[in-house]
Amino acid sequence: MKTVRTRYAPSPTGYLHIGGARTALFNYLFAKHFKGDFVFRLEDTDVARNVEGGEKSQLDNLAWLGIIPDESPLNPNKKYGFYRQSERLDIYQKVINKLLAKNLAYKAYDTPEELELQRKEQEEAKIASFRYDENWLKISDEERKKRDDNNQYSIRLRLKKNVVYAWNDLVRGKIEVNSDDIGDFVIMKSDGYPTYNFAVVVDDHMMEITHVLRGEEHITNTPKQLAIYEALNWDMPIFGHLTIITNMEGKKLSKRDKTLKQFIEDYKNEGYQPHAIFNFLSLLGWTSKDSKEIMSHAELIENFDYERLSKSPSKFDIVKMEWFSKQYMKKTDNQEIISQINSPFSAEWNELFVDTYKQSAATINEIKNNLLIYTSPKKETNLEIPNLEVVQTFFSYLKEGSFSIENIQLAIEKTKQKLNLKGKDLFMPIRIASTLEEHGPELAKAIFLFGKEIIFERLSKWN
Ligand code: GLU
Repeated sequence: MKTVRTRYAPSPTGYLHIGGARTALFNYLFAKHFKGDFVFRLEDTDVARNVEGGEKSQLDNLAWLGIIPDESPLNPNKKYGFYRQSERLDIYQKVINKLLAKNLAYKAYDTPEELELQRKEQEEAKIASFRYDENWLKISDEERKKRDDNNQYSIRLRLKKNVVYAWNDLVRGKIEVNSDDIGDFVIMKSDGYPTYNFAVVVDDHMMEITHVLRGEEHITNTPKQLAIYEALNWDMPIFGHLTIITNMEGKKLSKRDKTLKQFIEDYKNEGYQPHAIFNFLSLLGWTSKDSKEIMSHAELIENFDYERLSKSPSKFDIVKMEWFSKQYMKKTDNQEIISQINSPFSAEWNELFVDTYKQSAATINEIKNNLLIYTSPKKETNLEIPNLEVVQTFFSYLKEGSFSIENIQLAIEKTKQKLNLKGKDLFMPIRIASTLEEHGPELAKAIFLFGKEIIFERLSKWN
């Protein structure tokens, strides 16, 4: 069997977005499931839209997520040449020449104004959507030659009339489009750069890509790509179009929506656990057979079967994302967290602190913020203590023994017995008076972490 090869081919137009990351991840999981290769390739021929550092940022963010391509511009397989389209222009030109020689493509000399005119005429004639008409342009041989000499032409693929382009989509099943609904389209622009549809076919073919998983916005491109495969007599890969990712209201995610963190970089900067995002993204449009949600890399690779790719849009649920992060934070090794929080305290203290606070934190930043409670302890709080007697009773018991978690716990227990209180009525006065916070982790641990001096100073105030 042929080695499975998938690819992620972003344009370096910005940071790694959730949608791009999901596409990359699904291609990665698919390839790895079949013990194949995952390729990273750059579509950088839309020069005006490229941003400086776009490629590096994409690769760095993927690496942070744990997605390391087998081949990329930085790690190319020599057999396949360059991995940036801008470096493959001579390859595209050769293929174009072949198509021109076989009369399967032709030079279209229309200026933008002439094209616009043709478009308008069709509109007035109520033709539903624009189809380029090769015979529309009437210019003299002389004018044609002039435009030819000045490279004033684009190249269009000549489509056969009334043929059907069909493919069996991994996600949606059979899809068919008639060539008459497409019309001859541009494969090379007048500036000598290939169009997306053309370059992607040449690259996928030459890099022996076997499966293409990409967003459903590309469904309308696929028949055009099939036409190119057919003209060149190349086998097409298997396509699968992933459904859109929406916000909770069911609207397609818009990069302009500032209320949602949509870039992997945002999550990285806030100290989310990369594996949590990896796992969360894997469920945006896919489910595992046994409905299991928390899965390791190895499990995801093992379980990733394309039959379970979803046909309906997937909601980007930030609450769920937080839940995932918390599950992973709990499982993260204390030392790994300690190495990221820059704590000035002893190893023993750090161990207890992290072990206590990681139980409910979604991000490293949250843990860092909690550390501030101890590195710069408050002097006072505006919070009112609901019942002073609780505080006094607790303090009197606390003073009886040594300052340890067990004895703090014991003092709370004795206070409970003595005053016959429980729940909030018991804990809130003690929590506010000792930690000067309304919320926090396990009370005895939170108190212990402050140390005897601070706690005694705070509690003696109420005697
Ligand atoms: N550069 C295209 C994109 O960002 C790649 C499309 C494809 O995978 O064919 O969507």
